[in-house]
Amino acid sequence: MDLGILAMKPFAGGMIDNADIAFKYLRQYPDVIPIPGFDSVDAVDQVVSFYESPNRLTASDEQLMEKYRSELGKQFCRRCEYCQPCPNGVMITPAMGYRIVASRMSPVVATEFLREAMESVKSCEDCNTCIERCPYELPIPEILRANYDIYERHVAELGKS
Ligand code: SF4
Ligand code: SF4
Repeated sequence: MDLGILAMKPFAGGMIDNADIAFKYLRQYPDVIPIPGFDSVDAVDQVVSFYESPNRLTASDEQLMEKYRSELGKQFCRRCEYCQPCPNGVMITPAMGYRIVASRMSPVVATEFLREAMESVKSCEDCNTCIERCPYELPIPEILRANYDIYERHVAELGKS
């Protein structure tokens, strides 16, 4: 349709922790204008510096992009929070990210920092209100349950060690 695109959340809400690779990916598409949030002048300078040289992709860049893509999966929560509030108090957004946080950081960190969110998953009564609100039509209760199973396994494993 000959329209440009503003790309919100070019770091996937913090899930892509490599600004260089995120911008190498996006700069392949000249009609896409990323609009990242900034919390420092240094961060602005870093992004501006990407545009001071041609975009060159190596085979290892592409492998890294693929790694992010497969890790985030197709049922990726964008952390937009449109699904909330949950009538039963489930902390949907942080709980949706449990699997990724545990694999990125560690089960020790994930069980500690996301304990409250993961314990709230037990209050889910499958009302599906959140699914109706999610612009990406994610099967939220199903993903939450899968993440809770992983969390429960981690808690048990850590309790044994
Ligand atoms: S399906 Fe579960 S998580 Fe979603 S709104 Fe209903 S109770 Fe909350
Ligand atoms: S609305 Fe969907 S994508 Fe947005 S935070 Fe909720 S589950 Fe994630």
